Amino acid sequence: MDTPLEIPALTDAEELTCDVLVIGGGTAGTMAALTAAEHGADVLLLEKAHVRHSGALAMGMDGVNNAVIPGRAEPDDYVAEITRANDGIVDQSTVRQTAVRGFDMVRRLESYGVKFEKDEHGAYAVRQVHRSGSYVLPMPEGKDVKKVLYRQLRRREMRERIRIENRVMPVRVLTAGGRAVGAAGFHTRTGAFVVVRAGAVILATGAAGRLGLPASGYLYGTYENPTNAGDGYAMAYHAGAELTGIECFQINPLIKDYNGPACAYVANPFGGYQVNRHGERFVDSDYWSGQMMAEFAAEVASDRGPVYLKLSHLPEESLTALESILHSTERPTRGTFHAGRGHDYRTHDVEMHISEIGLCGGHSASGVRVDAHARTTVPRLYAAGDLACVPHNYMIGAFVFGDLAGADAAQYTPYEGELPSAQLREAHELIYRPLRNPDGPPQPQVEYKLRRFVNDYVAPPKSGARLSLALEAFERMRADVAAMGARTPHELMRCAEVSFIRDCAEMAARASLARTESRWGLYHERLDHPGRDDASWFHHLDLRKSPSGAMEFTARPVAPYLVPVDGFAPTGGPSRHLGEVHPEDVATAGSREVAPLLESATVPPPVAEAEAPASPRLLELLALTEEEPELAVLTPYLNDPEPAVRRTAVAVLTETAPPGTGPALAATLADDDASVRAAAAASLRELAETLTPDPVLRDRLVAALSEADPVARAVALDLLRGLRAGDADLFAASLTDADIAVRIAAVRALVSVDAAEELARAARTEPSREVRVAIAKGLAGTGPGTDPEVLRAALAHLIADPDALVRGAAYEALGATGCPAPLAGRAAAALTDSAWQVRAGAATALSAADPAVAVPALARALADPNADVRKAAVLALTRHRAGEDVREALTRATADSDADVRAYATRAL
Ligand SMILES: Cc1cc2nc3c(=O)[nH]c(=O)nc-3n(C[C@H](O)[C@H](O)[C@H](O)COP(=O)(O)OP(=O)(O)OC[C@H]3O[C@@H](n4cnc5c(N)ncnc54)[C@H](O)[C@@H]3O)c2cc1C
Repeated sequence: MDTPLEIPALTDAEELTCDVLVIGGGTAGTMAALTAAEHGADVLLLEKAHVRHSGALAMGMDGVNNAVIPGRAEPDDYVAEITRANDGIVDQSTVRQTAVRGFDMVRRLESYGVKFEKDEHGAYAVRQVHRSGSYVLPMPEGKDVKKVLYRQLRRREMRERIRIENRVMPVRVLTAGGRAVGAAGFHTRTGAFVVVRAGAVILATGAAGRLGLPASGYLYGTYENPTNAGDGYAMAYHAGAELTGIECFQINPLIKDYNGPACAYVANPFGGYQVNRHGERFVDSDYWSGQMMAEFAAEVASDRGPVYLKLSHLPEESLTALESILHSTERPTRGTFHAGRGHDYRTHDVEMHISEIGLCGGHSASGVRVDAHARTTVPRLYAAGDLACVPHNYMIGAFVFGDLAGADAAQYTPYEGELPSAQLREAHELIYRPLRNPDGPPQPQVEYKLRRFVNDYVAPPKSGARLSLALEAFERMRADVAAMGARTPHELMRCAEVSFIRDCAEMAARASLARTESRWGLYHERLDHPGRDDASWFHHLDLRKSPSGAMEFTARPVAPYLVPVDGFAPTGGPSRHLGEVHPEDVATAGSREVAPLLESATVPPPVAEAEAPASPRLLELLALTEEEPELAVLTPYLNDPEPAVRRTAVAVLTETAPPGTGPALAATLADDDASVRAAAAASLRELAETLTPDPVLRDRLVAALSEADPVARAVALDLLRGLRAGDADLFAASLTDADIAVRIAAVRALVSVDAAEELARAARTEPSREVRVAIAKGLAGTGPGTDPEVLRAALAHLIADPDALVRGAAYEALGATGCPAPLAGRAAAALTDSAWQVRAGAATALSAADPAVAVPALARALADPNADVRKAAVLALTRHRAGEDVREALTRATADSDADVRAYATRAL
């Protein structure tokens, strides 16, 4: 476009009114909107992208990182864990909300149709990823979460209460009389000025993800969703709210050269882990923390680097399962990336690196200060999700705090006074200034330069000198930011984001300068103040904009704990007002007024999307999505001659889920076209939690067991199992299916009905290695009523299997079912097997054997050349911990070369 957009007059603003304004339609924002509406409020949800696929959840949710599931974890243990991971600096009243309410939130999400992994008996399949606590609840189909939430928002009752405005981006929260009264922003497609009058405002704009520049140099190649540019941090700051822990950065492990997390949380339960180039585990930290990142960064930088996610030792079936999660749920480009390098998990471990820095409450602890109801220090202004300082809150915490904010904010009705004209003028100027100077420096260049300074001067390890240079650069860059040019509404959005990034960069540098100690490992490592200084700094560091406009700081003592934690003792006392933090004098050889060399921008040109001609039937269908069509309206499309139309009809059906959806999808499993059948299978899995086991659905699923397509047969078995609509006879019939995936689905289904006899029979006849492994694992998972003799006889057969993986899995199962003589003797002998998987399984079996046989054998296994065998031996010895011989063996293991072996031995003693 050559002619720049015209600047709309202030008086031309479109004014919207609501009880509750939610800014940001991601994880926390959608939940806040739903809850506020359920409490009777009229809600306005403003999203700068499109709610259907915006935010961190849009792709890549492979599990709940912090689920406190009754029977698997205790809320108080979780609170203690997070307190330790944050070196004691937490407001436990906020963390406890997530601990206590997280499980109800999982159930609520499930009622919406979000799928969490469950075992054959319908119990949540929580995994232990770190050495302490079992909090990871996998979501192998987590790519659908945003779609499910959007379906909730579009339900008729919610539509009456929630108005969604996509592509509208607030830039400032409006305040009057010391409280939040609305917001000012603009439409990122039309450029219109938008003003909102509200009873309360909930900020849910996510992390400040575009702070540091990724190693790739790409502006948007960030760990975080790149539309989260720190907008909420800046808006809260300018509204007068306190921010806290801003010096505690977010830094994460990443795949080298690829914009995506390495996903140890996904890989660990399958047996993957991080190693240095010698194949040694090196992480001593017990939970995700800045300390862990410090160990990671040190290893990468050492002669032992680089660091890898080790997967190549895993069996084919684990790798296939991992690929299906990492290359679809996590990121579809990931498989292409590895393939482009000629790498495969079977032959190459995945080189890892560390991410750029960001601000994030959800992964770290840098955010807006909130209380246990998501209230900020500005009345009627709330913050939830990654933006709020509730350490390690992740996805489930974002939902919990969105819910808390929505419930509390729903009590308010719209502000009736005059909206603050000076603030409106300031917001208008911030938005439209670049249009007055269309040929000014373009946003990519200014942003690149700004973020280079962040990398050079603010990223850890930090020093007073570098942070001072950073402040000087960020002050100087106020002028560059003010001079940026734009011509289109889209460019205006990018320019406003750069102003937020500059604000966040200044906050990050000043807060880092203010805390004159080192804490949180790499997140706040000060070279000039090494070591933790609890005497002066067992405090939160709060930051706010003073009435004069300066950035000022207060050190606030940590509140007394609700859950005591060894090694940390909040002493209370008064806050210390620190005032403004000024840069140090940095000695230089020449003038510091010389601008740094201008880096050339390396932003790649946008790739035009290939436009496929859209059939009119497809367009009709897509339009129907917004109208919540009944099944009868969609049925003709499900029977359309064109497979593309039928496929899209399945998608619309899944998105809107009218009554009768389950049977309709089950019938579609018999479609002539494989892609339509695959879509129906995926949809059935997506909706599984919301389907009721009515007879029609059951009959159609049973009919699908005879379909030629194994995809249809496998999904039918999984659904029948999940709906508890099948029995041992029905499931056992599929044990002779020609397809391995179907037989594995049959094994899982048989486990769900405790059909040990059928499994035991199959153990003797099953030809495929993968299925025999599943049977071995499944036998250990049958219910307490199972005859132990049947289990042991079947496992005794499997430990003589020709395949090492089957033998390993069978021994491991004996660790759960009990390992009496003579099996214990065979397990002890198997500790000399040539396959490490068998030795590791045998060590696990011995955890449930007579100590007289087990302990001497396990003590010898501590000298095994394979670290996983030694780790299994330590864990097994932990279960025999009473004897002195066990203590001696474990004490020796505390000096092991492998970090896991050392740590588990230390914990056991
Ligand atoms: C790569 C990655 C992987 C992750 N994996 C997991 C995992 O497996 N398990 C887990 O528990 N957690 C995971 N997390 C963390 C989890 O996703 C986040 O903690 C959570 O989704 C944060 O929710 P939020 O609402 O704060 O932010 P988001 O969901 O990102 O929502 C923020 C929204 O605000 C919008 N927005 C921003 N600025 C404005 C503005 N000015 N105006 C209007 N709208 C605006 C954005 O477009 C976005 O839609 C992961 C995070 C990332 C980045």
